[in-house]
Amino acid sequence: MIIDVDRHATVERYQDLFPHMSLSWRKHFERDEWLESVTVAGDHVRVSDRFVHEQSTESPGQDDDDSFRLLLPHHGLAVNGWADQVAARTFLEALNSYAAERWASTSTLPVVVVSPHDTAWSAGEIRRRAAAGTAGAVAPPLTSTMLGSQHWNPIFEACVETNLPLVVHFSGVEGRYSGAPPLAGGVHASAFSRLTLMPHLAESNIASLTYEGALVRFPELRIIFTGFGFTWLPSLLWRLDREWRTFRHDIPWVTEPPSEQVLTNMWFSTWPVKEATNTEEWEASFTERLRDRVVYGSHSPHEGDAVKDILTHLGGEWATRLMRNGAASLARPIPAGV
Ligand SMILES: [Zn+2]
Repeated sequence: MIIDVDRHATVERYQDLFPHMSLSWRKHFERDEWLESVTVAGDHVRVSDRFVHEQSTESPGQDDDDSFRLLLPHHGLAVNGWADQVAARTFLEALNSYAAERWASTSTLPVVVVSPHDTAWSAGEIRRRAAAGTAGAVAPPLTSTMLGSQHWNPIFEACVETNLPLVVHFSGVEGRYSGAPPLAGGVHASAFSRLTLMPHLAESNIASLTYEGALVRFPELRIIFTGFGFTWLPSLLWRLDREWRTFRHDIPWVTEPPSEQVLTNMWFSTWPVKEATNTEEWEASFTERLRDRVVYGSHSPHEGDAVKDILTHLGGEWATRLMRNGAASLARPIPAGV
């Protein structure tokens, strides 16, 4: 039994999206430099194609009645580095249609990638895919507009209305392309610097979501941070609560410690699980409630973690807990045996 909230899926050829575009948009995209970039664009999420890892041999689905995987079309996330925002929206609509047609099944559902530049269109896209039963979650490509901003309200409102979780995942162009959010400190020269610092994107957006009251406005919104690890959470939550206690009169709409919002509305996936191998270094600082926020996300096939890696590094008890937590994050029934 597997519940995987971070399984990646790719479009092999951009030409395969053309049936989901108007003729004029097809002509717009029908240029060699774009068509030939599909592999490079898909590699952004690995941060650098210099890093080559063995691919997971685990089946992507249909191997177990209880299994369920979100399939993230990560090519869509990289529109946070696109200059042409109208073309980006057209690309996302075609990609979501392609995903709905190819990747929706009883054990897999695609993540709908929305436009950070057109939240009204995005809200309609969420409702349309949800009504068709072909959406498992919603992913907003990250920009410099933090997730706590009211800019995102139409997308959050549609998520709550359709009972779909928000999945937050880096595209790999953060800190690299204009339009995508910068990373802390400045411009980093290397791919491994950027990869090391990706958790900062999660930390920044958690601070924004909690302090700016997004979850006060949308108390039923579920948010899954995937690909950022999780062992850094206790120190962040301590700091969030500490500053809130000192300055809470500045943000009177936050009436409870910010950590409560994290412990109620957010989940965090395990990849890279090797970061958590030394359990004695982090487990003691994880309360029972915080342990309930950790879910399994393989990040496969990009140097991903298989379930056997979870068993090796965290043990069977954690593996069972991760699947139970994963079901809660997706508001799905808890599978038998968990
Ligand atoms: Zn991933």
